[in-house]
Amino acid sequence: MLMCPNCKSKIPFWKPWFLTNFNGINCSTCGKKLSGNKKINSLIGGIGGGLGTLVLLNLYKSNFSFGSVGITVLWILSVCFASSLFTKLEIKE
Ligand SMILES: [Zn+2]
Repeated sequence: MLMCPNCKSKIPFWKPWFLTNFNGINCSTCGKKLSGNKKINSLIGGIGGGLGTLVLLNLYKSNFSFGSVGITVLWILSVCFASSLFTKLEIKE
């Protein structure tokens, strides 16, 4: 579970999905601006993006077959899951 590094309140699991290296999110309890650890963000983005290219290519090649759509959904879910799990929040100065 993600926690605010300032007030230790819980951060909704979907918040890091909107977190990039260029923006931050606000803690809804204390209002602090938080950003993700850039290294971890890049790692998730890099792996997710790399896999995503393969997944989308496969989807296109297979003419949007049932199996490929399933793999695509699985990929989206795992990227979301990974960002919720591995994002490390830091207080933005
Ligand atoms: Zn907070």
